[in-house]
This record gives sequence, C-alpha cells and structure tokens, in this order.
Amino acid sequence: MTDNSVFNNKKVVFHTLGCKLNFAETSAIGKQLSDEGFFKVRPGEQADVCIINTCSVTDTADHKCRQAINRLNRQHPNAIMVVTGCYAQLKPEEISMIAGVDLVLGANEKFSILDHLQNLDNNQNAVVHRSEIAATHDFKPSCSRDDRTRFFLKVQDGCDYHCTYCTIPLARGKSRNASIDETVKMAQQAIAEGAKEIVLTGINTGDFGKSTGEKFFDLVKALDALPDEIRFRISSIEPNLLTDDMIAYVAQSKHFMPHFHIPLQSGSNEVLQLMKRRYNKEMFANKIESIKTAMPEAFIGVDVIVGVKGETDELFANALEFISSLDISQLHVFSYSERAGTTMLEIEHTVSNTERKRRSDVLHALSDKMTKAFYQNQIGKTANVLWESTHKDDKMVGFTENYVRLERSFDKSLVNSIHTVKMGDWNQDYSALKVE
Ligand code: SF4
Repeated sequence: MTDNSVFNNKKVVFHTLGCKLNFAETSAIGKQLSDEGFFKVRPGEQADVCIINTCSVTDTADHKCRQAINRLNRQHPNAIMVVTGCYAQLKPEEISMIAGVDLVLGANEKFSILDHLQNLDNNQNAVVHRSEIAATHDFKPSCSRDDRTRFFLKVQDGCDYHCTYCTIPLARGKSRNASIDETVKMAQQAIAEGAKEIVLTGINTGDFGKSTGEKFFDLVKALDALPDEIRFRISSIEPNLLTDDMIAYVAQSKHFMPHFHIPLQSGSNEVLQLMKRRYNKEMFANKIESIKTAMPEAFIGVDVIVGVKGETDELFANALEFISSLDISQLHVFSYSERAGTTMLEIEHTVSNTERKRRSDVLHALSDKMTKAFYQNQIGKTANVLWESTHKDDKMVGFTENYVRLERSFDKSLVNSIHTVKMGDWNQDYSALKVE
C-alpha cells in the first residue's frame, strides 16, 4: 500500500455477475485496489466506490446487471459507480444513461480502474472509456481467491469461434493467453496462498495457446508435474478440443480430476449446423464414451441451449432423444436469447417464449433424473473429499474428485483438507450424500 495514495482508507464494494472468469477478474481488480489502500466495505457501511463487473450472455443477464446497478445506487447513494465487463463493452451508452452511473469501462479498460478514478472529475454525466475489443492481444492474468478452498485461475480469454447465437467474441475479443511458464507460476502462487483446488477457467479454455503457439494439453501436463498436493479441474472445454489423448492422460493423472464440463448446445445435427458448432452429435457421443470407458466414475456436465431459431418441434424431439441416450451426470440448460450483432437473427423460424420455457423444463427434469442416478450409484463407494470452509446449520460440505457433494457435521480442523471417506446415503434435502 502506498502511504500517499489518494485512495487510502477509501471503501469499495464489488458486485460480479456471470462466469468464473469474471469472478477471477474482479478478484484481480480487488487486489489492485487494496494495494492502493482501499478497504472492502463491511455490511451496513457506506462505500466510496461501487464496482460492478457485468455479464451480457443473455437479455436476462443485462436485466440483472441493471437491477444490480439500481440496488447498489440505492444502498450507496454517494458512491462513485463504476460499471465494467461484457455488458459495458457491448452497450456502454445504454449503461451510461442509468441514474447513478459515473464511469463505464470496456473490457480493455477494466484493469486501469485506478487511473480512470483518479482522472474522474465531478461531471454530471457518466464518462465512458471503451476501446474496440477486436484488436486486443493483451492478456490480463487473474485468479480469484475468495474461497479459501477453491481458486479460479484465468488461463485464457476471448474466442475465435463464431457460433451464430453468441456475442461473447464481440465482448471479449480474440483468443489469447499467457505462456505455459507464466500460467504455471500463477498456479504455484495460488498453491503458496493455500489453494488445494484450482479451476482452470477461460472463455474457450481448450483454445489455450493460440497467442503463444502452445497447446492446452501441454499446459495440463506442465501443471500435472507440480509436486504439491493440489487438485485441478477444467472449468469447461469445447468437445472438438477435448482430445482422446487428453482424456487418457486425465484418467491416469495425479492432479486432474475425473470431472468434465462440455458444451453440447444441441442434440440435433441440423441445429448444430445452424449454430455453426464444430462437431456433430456422433462425435460428441464418442467423446462421452471415451471418457466413461477411461473413467467410469467421471462426472460429466453438459451445456444445452433450448429454443434457438430453427429448432422446430421435430428437431427438439430428436435432440431430446439423443441427450437422453448419453451417459452423463448433469445438464446446464439455457433458454435462447436473441443477441444484437449475431448471425442467428437472420434465421426466420422462431420458437415462442412459452415453448422455450416448456423445452427448458423438460431438460431440467431430465437433468435432475441424471444427477440423482449418478449420486445413487456413488452410495457405498470410497472417495477423497476436499472439505470447504462454508458451513450452515452446523454442517459442512465438500466435493469428491468426481464432483459428488458430501456433507458432514462441521469440524473446523477439517477445513481445506482432503480426506478419504465412504459415501453414505442422501442427506435430508437430497442436496448431498452423507459421510458414513
Ligand atoms: S465457443 Fe462459441 S459459444 Fe463459446 S464463447 Fe466462443 S463463440 Fe461463444
């Protein structure tokens, strides 16, 4: 902390929406500010500065950002309100019109908040600083360390894919990353700060290496060679980037967990083509089979978007049949949301909001069935659980290697430690298995 900093003892409140990458970046910004003398406000205290890191993946996300801005503005009426993140990059003018907003910063400007705060004068109107994202080659490393147990390490940013429903490349720019050496150093830093588990996160994580001429698989191997007691999870990886070699490697690796999150988006080849995805359903099914053959206990979460333009009733029925045939553990279901600047808008056929809701409910019900079956199959088996610090009603939780949520009575001495346990029956609200 620099003694003569103009920000000494200033109070700041953060609000983050969206993906793990956003949380990692807010953490990095938080570190910059605390190094300059800022303190996080405690409940009931008035902040001098409010920082909102936004998401714009759907209309609902934009709406939630506006709600957060209004709420923080009511709670901290005298604070300087700074809005950044993907919504700020895509619609800065819209945000600058919201009452109480003082500073709107694009994705490139996110990490120079201190400079912009220092140069901010008492202008009535909101000031916007937002440069074109497309030309950005700048990779800003970030790691969230909010929870003592699990750290989210940003290893990649941006995306060079152009899925027809998605605005993320417009908000985050080209695929880029730090070098393998720098990334391993960031992981070692997190381990030195007490991390027992690190989640590798990005926008198109498997595309790591694009800006340094390296490969994601080589990063996995470099991290796996670390001598420490550390668990790694891959937050999400495109099916076409998850190679069979990588699956075989994770199956025998010391540090990488048998837990995969893979976006499918649709179970219909016709719809996958309309989305301009880079695989078909047969290739996706083979990937699942490869994982389950190499790691029968692996947890597999799959993203699906329902109600995209062109998804007729018949195509949805085919997709549902395909998804139901997969040996997976959970679905993350999203309802399609029209996004400005995306080519999917050119498709005439539209699914009504009522029908989108119906399809989403169908897949949520299927997901519940899949997750229950996966957990049921774990009862009586042995696993290594990492106990977390969060506890409620005298109970603490933790996750096994294959991402089974376990619960036991709270014991402070177990926080952030890994133990071999036998998985018992369901707890009362079917949110975890008890430890015998
Ligand atoms: S891979 Fe497709 S869906 Fe994912 S961020 Fe890139 S463009 Fe969007």
